[in-house]
Amino acid sequence: MVILKNMILEADILITCDAQNTIIKDAAVFVSDGLIADLGQRERIHKDYSADKVIEGENRILLPGLINTHSHSVQTFLRGKADDHTLLDWLRQVVLPGEANFTPEEVYSSSLLGFAEMIRTGTTTTNDMLTSHNSDYGIKAAVESGIRTRIGKMLMDVDNDFPDIIKEDTETVIETARKQIDQYHQTQDGRIKYSLNPRFLLSCSPKLMNLIVETQHDYEDLMIHTHASESQSECIEVKKMYNDSYIRALKNLKALGSETILAHGIWLNKEEFEIIQKTNTRITHNPSSNCKLASGICDVVKYHELGVLVGIGTDGPPCNNNFDMFRDMRLAAFLQKVKHLNEQALPASKVLQMATIDGARAINWDKEIGSIELGKRADMIMIDIDQVNAMPLYDPVSHLIYSSSGKDVSLTMINGKIVYHDGHFKTIDFNKIKVATQKYQDKWEL
Ligand SMILES: [Zn+2]
Repeated sequence: MVILKNMILEADILITCDAQNTIIKDAAVFVSDGLIADLGQRERIHKDYSADKVIEGENRILLPGLINTHSHSVQTFLRGKADDHTLLDWLRQVVLPGEANFTPEEVYSSSLLGFAEMIRTGTTTTNDMLTSHNSDYGIKAAVESGIRTRIGKMLMDVDNDFPDIIKEDTETVIETARKQIDQYHQTQDGRIKYSLNPRFLLSCSPKLMNLIVETQHDYEDLMIHTHASESQSECIEVKKMYNDSYIRALKNLKALGSETILAHGIWLNKEEFEIIQKTNTRITHNPSSNCKLASGICDVVKYHELGVLVGIGTDGPPCNNNFDMFRDMRLAAFLQKVKHLNEQALPASKVLQMATIDGARAINWDKEIGSIELGKRADMIMIDIDQVNAMPLYDPVSHLIYSSSGKDVSLTMINGKIVYHDGHFKTIDFNKIKVATQKYQDKWEL
């Protein structure tokens, strides 16, 4: 790949997602050394800078890259293999055996396919959980794809009717995680950060949870990312195992705080909501997954009233079955309107904020990403509005949330590098992934 030192990206409409929600028409952004070096009127930017490359922006909206706060890239090969189950059956019958039986090559290709889909549909950063085994191959895929990510192996040491093969002993889990932290955390120009991913309390002993918290304290900027209070039956099982409500159990384990993000957070009592607020714990709302697994509807409005940071996640392909954040942004807005019977419950502008700057805040990365502002990393996407679904276009934010899809993304830039443009991946050999995917699919069809 040719490395360009600087570039100008033009756009008919630039949506910055800064604190003032600035939108600039006939705009351009000057990118230098991977950073946003200037932005403003197209004419002025061209007058002030000469760039190695200019990306024309006719019929294009330019906005910050989307931030997916909860994904399982490695589950992509299981897309369509676990439909119409509830959470625990879905896990025990399909997802865990599937993950457990992946070869190292399958972990790599399945993750890479997931990252390709994210990049293709406008996600520039993801908060990702891998498998217990062979997770180095998933991190390798993240490194090669060019995506920005917090990522780590799945941590679990309790079988709880889960397949034996996926269980590791407590010490091995932590030893492997620590080795991976030393190898990958804050590497690739800061694009890759490790994360500690206990799957959920049902698969983690108190001893493992204590070791995870201890490990987190030994490193800077290392987040805990786990599932919590997703389904009612899960909460009942956690109560039996930990003799406490889910969130209180996590609090007693000292696993909550501003460096923890909980996926789902649906079934909470009043006290648990207050614990989330007081500890400044972050939530990732995953609307498609919650609908498909019939888990429930997260009360995003309530979290916002409490000042809790909430990002939007897709979750994995077996429960979504897609990494297109545009689908989840739209559904996030719709679900709150229905839940609260209030059309203003979650307006389009707030949803866009959740998928950009709030997502960045929720994963403690907002100093560098989440908006198009001077000095931030150049993580941006372009939307093609020369399309039937973009006509007429009165309000670009309304278009993005209610009418667009990931297929409208024409360009994805991460860290100042174009990773996808007009149908072409720049970092990923898509034909190679196709062959690997077919090979895996053939195994099921034998
Ligand atoms: Zn998940």
